[in-house]
Amino acid sequence: MTSGIDIELVKKGMLRLALTDWEQQEHYRISEIHKQNGELAELLTGKEARKREPALSNEVIGAMYLEKDGQVAAPQLALGFLKSASALGCVIKENVEVHSFHFSNGKITGVITSEGDFMSSNVVVTGGAWSEKLLMKIGLQLKMYPVKGECFSVRTEVPLLSRTIFTPGCYLVPKKDGRIIIGATVIPNTFNQQVTLEGIFSLMKNAKKIVPSISQSEWERAWTGIRPQTADGLPYLGEHPDYKGLFIATGHFRNGILLSPITGEVMADLIEGKSPSIDISPFRVDRSIRKTNPIMR
Ligand SMILES: Cc1cc2nc3c(=O)[nH]c(=O)nc-3n(C[C@H](O)[C@H](O)[C@H](O)COP(=O)(O)OP(=O)(O)OC[C@H]3O[C@@H](n4cnc5c(N)ncnc54)[C@H](O)[C@@H]3O)c2cc1C
Repeated sequence: MTSGIDIELVKKGMLRLALTDWEQQEHYRISEIHKQNGELAELLTGKEARKREPALSNEVIGAMYLEKDGQVAAPQLALGFLKSASALGCVIKENVEVHSFHFSNGKITGVITSEGDFMSSNVVVTGGAWSEKLLMKIGLQLKMYPVKGECFSVRTEVPLLSRTIFTPGCYLVPKKDGRIIIGATVIPNTFNQQVTLEGIFSLMKNAKKIVPSISQSEWERAWTGIRPQTADGLPYLGEHPDYKGLFIATGHFRNGILLSPITGEVMADLIEGKSPSIDISPFRVDRSIRKTNPIMR
C-alpha cells in the first residue's frame, strides 16, 4: 500500500472448533471442499486443538485448522485505502450524504448531495445496507436487508490465544496489540446500532464456554455495525443494465473486509471497460432488480 498504514496483518491461521458431533461431521465435509480447492484443512481432536491453544476448554471435542487464514485490523485497512486513494489524487468528502442522481439519455451524469451536485460520467454505489434505499429513489429495488452485528474487546495481561478461534456461537480474534475481539451477534432486519446487554451477554457466555479464562480479562469496549446482506447471499457487482455509468458494489454481508481488495479491482476493471480477472456473472446487478416508481432527476 502507498499509505504507510500498518493494517496489522496476522497470518497465524484459524481454528474452527467443534463442540458437538454434528459440528465435527460438518468439519469433515467442509475440509473435503477445502482440499478439493487446493486449500489446507487439518482435522484435529480436542486434545490436539488444546495442545495448540492451551486456553481452550474440555468442551472442545475437535477442530479444523485452516493454516492459510489471516486477519487484519478493519479500521486500519479502511484508513489505508483512504490514505492511498488520497495520495493517488482522490478527493475524499466525509459526512456528505448522496440524495439522488442526475441522468441524461440513459447515462449517469452526477450525484445530488447534501453539499450540492457533483458531476461524473461514472458513479459507484457502495452504500452498504443503505444502498437499496438510495437506489429505490431512482426506481430500482435490490433484494437486500440489514444484519446488525455486536462485538466487544478485552485486554489480557498475558497473551491468551495465538490464532483466530471460530465457533458458530462466537469468534475470538487475538490482535497484534494484545487485545482480543469477541464477536459477533447476527440480528437481521434492523438498522438499530445500539449495543445491547443481551447481545454482549450471549457472546460472553459463548466465549467463556470455550475459553474459560477470558472471564479474567479486562473489559475494553463494545460496538455494532450493520452488514449488507442480499436475498440470495451473493453480492451485487456490476453496471446497472438501464443506466450507463451507474455501478453498484454492495451486499458483501460478513465478508466485506476480506473481499474489499478484489471488489476494488473488479470495479476498476468494469469502469475502465476491461474484463475482470474473475467471473462476476453470479453477482450481476440485474438478477433480482425490481422496478419501483422512479423519482428521476
Ligand atoms: C460486527 C461485525 C463484524 C464483521 N466482521 C467481518 C470480518 O471479520 N471480515 C469481513 O470480511 N467482514 C466483516 N464484517 C462485514 C463488513 O464490515 C461488511 O461486509 C462491510 O463493511 C461492507 O462494506 P460496504 O462498504 O459495502 O458497506 P458499509 O461498511 O456499511 O459502508 C457503507 C457506507 O455508506 C454510507 N452511506 C449509506 N448511504 C449513504 C448515502 N446516501 N450517502 C453517503 N453515504 C452513505 C454509510 O454511512 C456507510 O458508511 C463484519 C461486520 C460486522 C457488523
